[in-house]
Amino acid sequence: MTATDTPLPGVSGTPATFESLDPRTGDVVGTHPVHDADAVAAAVARAEDAAQWWASLGFPERRRRLGEWRKALVRRIDDLARVVTEETGKPIDDARLELVLAIDHLDWAAKHAERVLGRRMVLPGALMSNQAASVTYVPIGVVGVIGPWNYPVFTPMGSIAYALAAGNAVVFKPSELTPGVGVALADSLAEIVDGRALFQVVTGFGETGASLCRAPGIGKISFTGSTATAKRVMATCAERLTPVVIECGGKDPMIVDADADLAAAADAAVWGGMSNAGQTCVGVERVYVLDAVAEEFIAKVVGTARTLRSGSTGDYGPMTSPAQVDVVRRHVEDALGRGGRAMVGGPESVQQQFIEPVVIVDVPEDSTAVTEETFGPLLVVNRVPDVAEAVRRANATGYGLGATVFSKNRGEEIATQLRCGMVAINGVISFAGVPSLPFGGVGDSGFGRIHGADGLREFTRPQAVARQRFPLPIAVTSFRRSSRGMKALLGVVRLRYGR
Ligand code: NDP
Repeated sequence: MTATDTPLPGVSGTPATFESLDPRTGDVVGTHPVHDADAVAAAVARAEDAAQWWASLGFPERRRRLGEWRKALVRRIDDLARVVTEETGKPIDDARLELVLAIDHLDWAAKHAERVLGRRMVLPGALMSNQAASVTYVPIGVVGVIGPWNYPVFTPMGSIAYALAAGNAVVFKPSELTPGVGVALADSLAEIVDGRALFQVVTGFGETGASLCRAPGIGKISFTGSTATAKRVMATCAERLTPVVIECGGKDPMIVDADADLAAAADAAVWGGMSNAGQTCVGVERVYVLDAVAEEFIAKVVGTARTLRSGSTGDYGPMTSPAQVDVVRRHVEDALGRGGRAMVGGPESVQQQFIEPVVIVDVPEDSTAVTEETFGPLLVVNRVPDVAEAVRRANATGYGLGATVFSKNRGEEIATQLRCGMVAINGVISFAGVPSLPFGGVGDSGFGRIHGADGLREFTRPQAVARQRFPLPIAVTSFRRSSRGMKALLGVVRLRYGR
């Protein structure tokens, strides 16, 4: 059962409501309840029951049902994409692409959960060779997912699909800007869960998210959003020692080596920087290009970026969040004020709610356009003398989410020097589309992982079991042990580890 626009069962009174808007027009596209602490607690309590039922089904049956959900998502792809477009303003094909990737991840998580999480035997070691040792990864129970608005399907599904495949129930708090997407997602699951509250949505503002963090039945919070909010989420979760996965923003660099395919690198830089109006946590925000190829690379970037248009029917849509427009304007002004040169656009490109592409070169490294997440269609391109300097600058921010490297011969070598969670070589954002790869950052970009085997394990707790198969001739964990037994054990240790 999913939470919808009606009050949650068990909660009396009519809740306050809020409206979600189409950022292209300002039109109201939906009205949703503001779920308060009681409503959130009721949802979590219902999810606890659903979690027990879901866990009891076992891997094969969960896989079958998640396969049915996958098919339902494919059937509804256009309807869901329309809701995404209405609430974010992004082009419908971008919304479809987001859904395609989410479906692929769901499929992977459902098919690999048993292999990754099922009981497996491990070697007990020489001293405990009388034990049969095994590990299993058991579901946590109820996972609270708090999501952002920029990829309102793909991003939260990186937690939701993996948490469900691991045997948990989910209560999801979408961004206040994209509540309708959350509700539509949960509705799409309804037919496979026999009316159980396996995946519910609670809507509202920050306080609703905070209530989810506080709810007693929550086993883990998976948060995606800004670093500032992540700190508040962690402080709230600390009250109950609730564990968290934190996926925050980034200031992702791209390094363009002297031997790179410059046409492909320029295309990737512009797509990575401008698609979704630059509102991509792993989007390209800064490019470090080697002096030897800088002129040619910049010319290609400029040529492509100049052809792009923002607009309701443009190459990319509006800024989804009105507040972000000011951040982009501030970064453009700071970069230019400190001596950066605008090659495409400028301050006049930043309009409420649409921002045309901006490319600025030779921006001082202490500009906010280089140090802070812009989350808009602004690309900073700086020249560097060599790869070592590119790596040094790439690693110089507090963030460490993703990175891109264009190099024919040194891609992997450069990647290993980058302080971040993911690297795309000769492609852009490609790691996010590979379901078997873990996704997450370091430093201000957060910790913990979604996607892949690590992402499945993130929503479980390991349980270790050691079963004695036969007693050892030397018993040392008993009050009846003898000094002869200890001497024999020390003899074995000296022989095995002392030489
Ligand atoms: P925010 O941090 O503003 O909000 C994220 C979510 O947290 C929203 O659902 C928000 O609700 C909720 N929230 C706000 N306050 C609280 C609180 N006190 N307790 C609990 N929950 C709260 O981020 P945005 O929505 O603006 O998303 C943009 C950010 O997300 C960018 O920094 C971007 O880089 C990052 N991001 C990271 C990704 C990753 O995987 N690493 C992927 C996508 C985005 P409400 O909206 O109602 O305020």
